[in-house]
Amino acid sequence: MRFSSRLKGVDESATFKYSRLAKERKMINLTIGRTGFDTPPIIKEATKKALDEGKVHYTPTKGIPELRKAIARKLVEENKIQNLDEEHVLVSVGAKHVIYEAVMSIIQRGDVVAISNPSWVSYESIARLSEGRTAWIPLKPENGFIPDDDFYAVLEDSKPRMILINSPNNPTGAVYPEKAIRKVVDIAERNESIILSDEIYERIIYEGKHFSAGSIYEDTITVNGFSKEFSMTGWRLAYAASQNKEIIEKMDIIQAQTVSCAVSFIQYGALKAFTEEARRDVMKMIAILKKRRDCLIDGMKKTRAVMEKPSGAFYVFPFFEGADDIELADKLMDEGVGVIPGSPFGSAGHGCLRMSYGDAEIEDLRKAVDILKGII
Ligand code: PMP
Ligand code: GLU
Repeated sequence: MRFSSRLKGVDESATFKYSRLAKERKMINLTIGRTGFDTPPIIKEATKKALDEGKVHYTPTKGIPELRKAIARKLVEENKIQNLDEEHVLVSVGAKHVIYEAVMSIIQRGDVVAISNPSWVSYESIARLSEGRTAWIPLKPENGFIPDDDFYAVLEDSKPRMILINSPNNPTGAVYPEKAIRKVVDIAERNESIILSDEIYERIIYEGKHFSAGSIYEDTITVNGFSKEFSMTGWRLAYAASQNKEIIEKMDIIQAQTVSCAVSFIQYGALKAFTEEARRDVMKMIAILKKRRDCLIDGMKKTRAVMEKPSGAFYVFPFFEGADDIELADKLMDEGVGVIPGSPFGSAGHGCLRMSYGDAEIEDLRKAVDILKGII
């Protein structure tokens, strides 16, 4: 059967594939990019109440105004993105779909989408679906995968229509310093590029400070959501915001013609994500994640991994010189540890493994490192 050429080179998501394989066979599971915590009770209760109150119908395509207002307020106050109100915000069914809508509204055949090498697996696939051309911008393990001069030079040369940045980063855990974001913005300004800043791990930072490109560059689409911070991956709720309202309007057209709107009662529940109570639950989660990160890093130091200590998200991305990452991931699976090989994240991922500590207890992390040491 003939399928659309748009799907050429777009495969099953490696993150979902390996987590499916790990779940099929009981093992220490360091595959999927989510935490094992429950959603804060205050959000769950408010969602149940909304359902009981009959909030079961379509909402405005961009999302309920109350939620968009709360999001705009957060972005102005915390992220210092100016001139935003609810009209500049679009709520949708997960950050992945938000990114899809953003790329589909900006990119046409042949336009360059610049993504870092390595990058989260879906960026390249979404760029392919939009028929854009991917420019891979190199990062290095010895720099902790933080942008360096090579990165800026290749980015400038690529003449990108759109630049996707992601800090804190999946798969590397790197948190980009403000000066790195400022350099990317300079390049975007010179090339009249749109920046998509994926800030889904914004709150999960152990050292350093988050800086939003949208606070200094109008043509930025800031993407964030509830999946990671509030352990709501299954709820499917995220948002995009931009000072450039026209971009949000175009994304809203794709939204209206595809998913219509995000789930109604979930949007009401998410209003409680902006409360002190939910924030306290998140801070407790981050303290636990930090302990896991430290334990994993201590263990990895005893292996021959090349890696810097990542300051955010819940991933480590160690590099093993000369190793075949796919073989290594398969061997680890046979020994009872599920990880994701690095190469699906880009050629810079060859010889790397992505290990998620979002849903693994300290004991399991220790065992996993011992097993890894025995293999590598
Ligand atoms: N961006 C990054 C960097 C991610 O790791 C993920 C994975 N969850 C997403 C976006 C998508 O998030 P969501 O579950 O909200 O679609
Ligand atoms: N983003 C998560 C991960 O990287 C969840 C799976 C996915 O969306 O790719 O594992």
